[in-house]
Amino acid sequence: MDLKRVEPVARWCVAALALALSVSAPAWSTQTHIDQATTKIDLRDDSTWLLDEHADQSAEAMFERVDAGSFRPLPANGPAFGFHDGAFWLHSSVLNRSGADQRWLLVLSYALIDSLDLYLRYPDGRIEHQVSGDTLSFAARAVRYRHPNFWVDIGNGEDVDLLLRAQSRSSIQLPLMIYSPTAFAEMAHRTQLGLGIYYGILLGLLLYNLILWLSLRDANHLWYVLHLTGIGLISACIYGLAFEWLWPQSPWLANQSVPMAIALAQLAMQQFARRFLDLRRIWPIGDRVAQGFLALYAVLAIAALALPYRTAVLIGTALVFPGVVFILIEGIYATRHGYRAARLFLLSWSILLLGSVAYAMVSFGVLPKTLLTEYGIQIGSTFEMLGLSFALAYRYVALRSENERIIQSARNQLEQRVAERTGELQSALEQLADANARLRQLNRHDPLTGAYNRSHVSESYECMLKQVQYDQQHLGILIVDVDHFKSINDSYGHLAGDECLREVAMRIKTTLHDERCVVARFSGEEFVILSPCIDWNDLCAIGEHLRQQFAASPLVCQGMAMTISVSIGVHLIDPHAPEPLDRALTFADHALTAAKKAGRNSVMGSNAIG
Ligand code: GH3
Ligand code: MG
Ligand code: MG
Repeated sequence: MDLKRVEPVARWCVAALALALSVSAPAWSTQTHIDQATTKIDLRDDSTWLLDEHADQSAEAMFERVDAGSFRPLPANGPAFGFHDGAFWLHSSVLNRSGADQRWLLVLSYALIDSLDLYLRYPDGRIEHQVSGDTLSFAARAVRYRHPNFWVDIGNGEDVDLLLRAQSRSSIQLPLMIYSPTAFAEMAHRTQLGLGIYYGILLGLLLYNLILWLSLRDANHLWYVLHLTGIGLISACIYGLAFEWLWPQSPWLANQSVPMAIALAQLAMQQFARRFLDLRRIWPIGDRVAQGFLALYAVLAIAALALPYRTAVLIGTALVFPGVVFILIEGIYATRHGYRAARLFLLSWSILLLGSVAYAMVSFGVLPKTLLTEYGIQIGSTFEMLGLSFALAYRYVALRSENERIIQSARNQLEQRVAERTGELQSALEQLADANARLRQLNRHDPLTGAYNRSHVSESYECMLKQVQYDQQHLGILIVDVDHFKSINDSYGHLAGDECLREVAMRIKTTLHDERCVVARFSGEEFVILSPCIDWNDLCAIGEHLRQQFAASPLVCQGMAMTISVSIGVHLIDPHAPEPLDRALTFADHALTAAKKAGRNSVMGSNAIG
């Protein structure tokens, strides 16, 4: 990339922003005065510079150029020169008029310069040389501070020429400040507070989201944590903190970590955006593009270790812009598709973008270095981190209420279905109970005559015994057999015979007229009756009354009058010493046989046949 060609275009593009953020152009003078009240001096106002294209000039040669007036005033936007292979020389002349010898600290408020050489020319012609920059170990610094610095001793009334040579593979910015030791301590103290607040917020959010990830297992939190780590690392690198605290022994890492951190932060952010915005679902093509970016960042993160620093930083920076713009597009797309949490995402991301763009513009020498532009990444990322944290919380709340809604509707559906099923079950049970009742009814009745059947006699025998015992009575068994029934069938037909059997059952029931009695069809044209009675006489009287009722009037079947007679065998059961039903029936049956033998149309007791 030809940065020299890009630079003027970029300058033009951000002219409006530059206007808003710029500081007034420094008034150029050749000498800076220190008096009693001076605590710090911004040398940007009084410095001149010269580019040594081939980086091959000696300090002596440059002092000659200073003396010849070849050095130029600094550009209007300050000492930011962008990426350049040459060496930049900065000159300033300082006169101590404070009335005492002074020791000052010269600080370059920019951390990423590779090599710095400071030449101090004293009035007696003596030249002192000091070195600094991030290609030396951190311990080599005059004061162990995140920005390169040098001690400068100036005697009372002395006029010292400061000549600084800077060469770097990264963007070249030379904001030189000179502090009294007290003023430096105060400045460092104040800055420390700001950095403390920034990294405090970052660390707090990081730990909080790490815990959320561990407890909720929502990968969004993990990617957010990784993004925070990347952002923290980038800012720590560019503000010189990573070199100071993380790898003070490794100038190589101090440099390579910048493109690596850029790649990792982008990787995590791209992945976070994909997942947070649910890109795979709402915009599959966009998701594929995002995956492409992920692959590029992953390759760069690894390649950053092997590539030359300048190349890695340039590729990293070149990849950042399409990447962050694409995330912006993703956010806009998701917002337009009604994803509400995307609005917060978009806002946070835009703020970070603005801060980063401002910072990058300073790196390329397009924007002046002001508090807003210099700390653009930190200010932007603070708002972004907080905004995204809110966005995550918002998304969590939205998901939770959506889940609750789904659960509630599922519960309602389930309840409705259970109610339906319960109703169906209830009616099925009722039908079953009906069917059972009908079955029981059918089971206990003779289908032809409607009288009980044999099994009902067996079932009710024990019960009747208890009942008569309770009533202090006896239980009588009567077997009623129609005489010569076969001849009815023969004479009137089988259907008439059936009708006759129904009428026989009916007459028995109406004649007995006692609800306690059990009247059952035993077989063919034989009926069994269980009837409570007082004694033998009472039982025989019941039988006799029955016989007479049949003999007294004919049955009417199919419009025909049929005169029939019955023979009855009876047996009395003592409820205190009852015999089994079969045995009792046998006794009654024997009595019936005896009644038949006696000429039919008669009643015979089992006691009479011995
Ligand atoms: P007895 O006086 O000796 O009892 O003579 P009976 O003819 O009544 O007795 P028998 O045992 O010889 O004949 C019984 C008849 O009853 C024979 C059978 O056809 C008839 N019968 C049995 N069950 C039914 C039935 O359900 N319907 C009709 N129509 N006839 C039946
Ligand atoms: Mg018969
Ligand atoms: Mg019979």
